[in-house]
Amino acid sequence: MARGYMGKLLFVDLSTGEIREEPLDENLGRDFIGGYGIGARILYSRQKGGVDPLGPENTLGLLTGPLTGTPATFGCRYAAVAKSPLTHSWGDANSGGHFGPHLKFAGYDGVFFTGISDRPVYLLIDNGKAELKDAAHLWGKDTYCTEDTLEAEYGPTSKVVSIGPTGEKVALVACIMSNRGDAAGRSGLGAVMGSKKLKAVVARGNKEVPVVDVEAANKLRKEHIAEGKPFLERFHTYGTGGHGDTSAHSGDTPVKNWGGVGVVDIPDVSGLNKDMIIANLDRRKGCWHCPAACKGSLKKGIEYDYPTGNHRLEYETIGAFGANCCNTNAESIAMASHLCNSYGMDTISAGSIIAFAIECYEHGIITKADTDGIDLTWGNHRALVAMTEKLVKREGLGDVLADGVKVAAEKLGKGAEEFAVHIGGQELGMHDPKAGFFGDKMTSAMYHMDATPGRHTTGFGPSQFMQYVSSSAGLCMHGGLAGNHAKYVVGFLSAVTGWDRSEEELLKAGERIANIRHVFTLREGDNPIERKVHGRIIGRPPQTEGPLAGVMTDIEAQDYWNLGALDWDRVTTKPSKDKLLELGLDDVAEELWPPQDTPPEVRPG
Ligand code: SF4
Repeated sequence: MARGYMGKLLFVDLSTGEIREEPLDENLGRDFIGGYGIGARILYSRQKGGVDPLGPENTLGLLTGPLTGTPATFGCRYAAVAKSPLTHSWGDANSGGHFGPHLKFAGYDGVFFTGISDRPVYLLIDNGKAELKDAAHLWGKDTYCTEDTLEAEYGPTSKVVSIGPTGEKVALVACIMSNRGDAAGRSGLGAVMGSKKLKAVVARGNKEVPVVDVEAANKLRKEHIAEGKPFLERFHTYGTGGHGDTSAHSGDTPVKNWGGVGVVDIPDVSGLNKDMIIANLDRRKGCWHCPAACKGSLKKGIEYDYPTGNHRLEYETIGAFGANCCNTNAESIAMASHLCNSYGMDTISAGSIIAFAIECYEHGIITKADTDGIDLTWGNHRALVAMTEKLVKREGLGDVLADGVKVAAEKLGKGAEEFAVHIGGQELGMHDPKAGFFGDKMTSAMYHMDATPGRHTTGFGPSQFMQYVSSSAGLCMHGGLAGNHAKYVVGFLSAVTGWDRSEEELLKAGERIANIRHVFTLREGDNPIERKVHGRIIGRPPQTEGPLAGVMTDIEAQDYWNLGALDWDRVTTKPSKDKLLELGLDDVAEELWPPQDTPPEVRPG
């Protein structure tokens, strides 16, 4: 096995309690790198299409990449993968923190769970051995308490991922948490974990991740840190939350459930200013060995009763509970964030759900009787926090809302669908595509067409192939902002694994990863081109005021351009047979293009 990998995967059947190890196939690493690349390949091969995402046949994987836990700058990530109960197709989510490196130090590149346990359990992975343990004492506990309890039992070198009560109650926007605020947030994978009665995974060990050329890797790390210095300093000071105010007014952050205009609906955004966001900061911290250390923890709340250690606000959370709810009270956003992190709910979805609920309240679809007296109006931060508490606990109206806006609109009826802003069942990241933050070939298409719809961190199309490699390798996407991204991805992979691969070869691997995620989605009957896009996302009708007045994104052109460049059919989105064969996905080509579907060869004469 190439260096960078621990060379082993764990498979746990929660129905039978059987745990077995498999060597990691070297070709799998070479072709799909790691993380969601390897995860998608394994789930496509070993799982049937059409399984119940909350049933025993759905496989949940937690996977690292070859650069996780190595000297590679930003090499700290793990990916969670499964069929998503939120979108009913491919699901993945990515998180930093410390768990990924420690899973490798415990001896494994990844762990897969199938089945459903008959009682709450957690998996202890202890330096090359794994054991299922009773979690009765942890069930019902929040993620902070779960982490503290398990880390107290197994020592400070143990690292934990867990679900909170939200995941236990199988809310479809539940996430997997670690490190008091690091979330594998998207795709509802905390609900998959909850459905399996898997409360947590503990990783502990002292194995070294093998690296071919440590000296070269360290040299590259130094170079990367020097090149990225201005970015690293800015990120260290303000994290991702340094532009909550300016983005609310520039059109970047959606406002008022995607239907408003920042400069009109929230003219005073000083409460979201970068200094307000860090006003209550206790200390800065970061993911494992990250030179940016863009995270932090807050002191005990002043206006709101959140505890010391609450995760400092990140951009997406500020956007979702801030401008999108016309709320400029930073402390209330910190309180909502604390509720989500401790109960285990994705903050992007949660804030978007609150914005949806406010608009339903405004239109009389939800009344004060439904909210138990909460006056759910725009900018009412106390109401926002009170409703978030109900949401994460699945109490009262919170129970109706906890499976995301699509399901909530179906349950509420009375035209609520008009206010449900999502794609394919998932609420969107907090960058309005009309503002063009990600470039003109990308902005709408990435939300619409990616295997995990509504995401902005995976992107879509050929311009993202290196990003797929980077994420699968275990790198944080913010590393791409700190210098020549491709140079460092190629350089670190070569220094760590010993595979001397060119940028072109790695781009091919990225394309392979894009295709395997996509065909998983297609097999679930989800053709992304048919996903409905809410008019507010793409400016139909266009806004009449503010920086986005008159702006409509040409989503059809973006989809058309990307599908052509990918060699995917523009109607069925099926990758061409030639493309699949070129990428070495012969088994997929055979499935998607059985002989009767293959056009006859035309011979001259
Ligand atoms: S940049 Fe921030 S999110 Fe990314 S690895 Fe570093 S600390 Fe974690």
